[in-house]
Amino acid sequence: MSEIAAWHAGEEEYLQAVEEVVRAVITVEKADAQYTAARVLRRLAEPDRVIAFRVEWADDKGEIRLNRGWRVQHSNLMGPYKGGLRFHPSVTRSILKFLAFEQTFKNSLTDLPLGGGKGGSDFDPSGHSDAEIMRFCQAFMGELVRYIGPSRDVPAGDIGVGTREIGYLAAAYKRATGEAEGAITGKALCIGGSELRVEATGYGLVYFVCAMLARAGEEIEGKRVAISGKGNVARHAARKAMQLGATVVSLSDSSGLIAAEDGLSVEALDWITARADAGQSVDTPPKRVGFEYLPGKKPWQIECDIALPCATQNELDADDARALVEGGCRFVAEGANMPLTNKAAAVLLKAGVLHAPGKASNAGGVVVSALEMRQNAAFRSMPAEEVDGLLRDIMVGIHRLICEEANRGTAKSTAEVDYVRGANIAAYRRLARAVVDHGLI
Ligand code: NDP
Repeated sequence: MSEIAAWHAGEEEYLQAVEEVVRAVITVEKADAQYTAARVLRRLAEPDRVIAFRVEWADDKGEIRLNRGWRVQHSNLMGPYKGGLRFHPSVTRSILKFLAFEQTFKNSLTDLPLGGGKGGSDFDPSGHSDAEIMRFCQAFMGELVRYIGPSRDVPAGDIGVGTREIGYLAAAYKRATGEAEGAITGKALCIGGSELRVEATGYGLVYFVCAMLARAGEEIEGKRVAISGKGNVARHAARKAMQLGATVVSLSDSSGLIAAEDGLSVEALDWITARADAGQSVDTPPKRVGFEYLPGKKPWQIECDIALPCATQNELDADDARALVEGGCRFVAEGANMPLTNKAAAVLLKAGVLHAPGKASNAGGVVVSALEMRQNAAFRSMPAEEVDGLLRDIMVGIHRLICEEANRGTAKSTAEVDYVRGANIAAYRRLARAVVDHGLI
């Protein structure tokens, strides 16, 4: 870690993500002479390349605006670089590097032929007109286009990049290349998107949780589920959990908590969705929707069986983890990428709370992105039921793989699974094999 820390000095999020993996897999690497000789971990801790560029665009008044853009191509050992684009003022090189690193491990867990990457900009889409967002996307793709392609690097959405932004980015890609094929996923259905791509991460998260519960001899029906965030992942996780008979006791956003002690109703979720899609706040709910909005609060004080952090990195710290344990929570599955600090994860592990890392439990989005690529390449579209069935099977498959790996060589009971360790080792083994088989790249 000391050499990695020196090479990536000051990039806290990146070092945090690498350290979690190193802790879990160092013994596996040391036990294998081939992996040690190939310096697998050290090489996986260096992105293939980090591309940085200026994005210049004109606002509605004709004034020139500047933003920074990046694409981190972490690894194409397993296939084309694959990972989303994030537009948010908090975006930095370090955040995109950690996301690309995590994505590489996540994608290898899916067993689909995908490498890992991530990109984005410090541009904040909120408060801009449609026309400004379109001009920004055109300018961003004007730079990015020279580095991507269907068998090279296939971006998708993330925070601040939804179906609208993907449409503008896809159009700019087509215009620059003259190619109609999809070098981007998350497209609207009418322009080559897949059924269920929008829902995939949230639905996949709940399918993963159902597999955790089944292994422990339980089911989701009747469980209390606390969720953070009210974006794409949070809302679809809430909807699927409610469909399966769970009581969703919270959502949240960057300003506060949506608290529903007796459970959110479908009407409340529809109201939140409509407000969020229109860019309106949810802090003054009408009485009929039956929830409270508490400014500045987080969901983790509410008693629950299952917690799904679905907002952003490092949103849940050690105090929050202790509150969850005291509130009776027994299952935590990450919808967001790295939402727990390393200290929070340690609190859960010590308390025996089963904790699934995002690289496993939020893989549903990239799974359906891969299905979108497959449909585009085959000139075929799959019905929603077929996509849903494949998504569920792949999430259950990831769960099985992790459980086998986590308990390999230990005398642990079937209810005791260190999902963080299992996910990191399972992903590492696949990547390590690929590093060795490639030789020097
Ligand atoms: P969205 O932009 O749709 O939603 C993000 C939500 O998180 C918003 O409600 C936002 O609040 C809230 N939020 C942001 N920062 C904070 C904070 N500091 N505290 C509390 N809430 C906060 O993004 P997604 O739902 O797409 O992504 C959420 C997470 O899931 C990210 O970590 C992303 O990388 C990860 N992810 C997403 C995938 C996808 O397919 N979309 C796939 C895999 C992972 P506000 O409404 O106030 O802005």
